[in-house]
Amino acid sequence: MSTLLGAFITALPGLMPVALCYALLCAASPFGRCRACKGLGFRTRTTALTGRLARGRDCRRCDTTGRRLRLGRRLHNHGLAARERAERIRHNSQL
Ligand SMILES: [Zn+2]
Repeated sequence: MSTLLGAFITALPGLMPVALCYALLCAASPFGRCRACKGLGFRTRTTALTGRLARGRDCRRCDTTGRRLRLGRRLHNHGLAARERAERIRHNSQL
């Protein structure tokens, strides 16, 4: 466990440029592709008959836009408290 922590601390300076790049990416392009539908705006399903990909339901995660606000940008926009509130609302709406 301590070796893992040591490796993490050693890698930390190397990760700083990555974090910086991510921050720049969030600033330059706040939207990322929706991971639930891969930017399509709808779910894909395979047809039972031929096994080919077909259009499924509209994606609710991104509201059919296929785009999602990046996590870094969301943090930047609202802060942690608002994010937790949004998380709770989303959780409730799924019930
Ligand atoms: Zn989506």
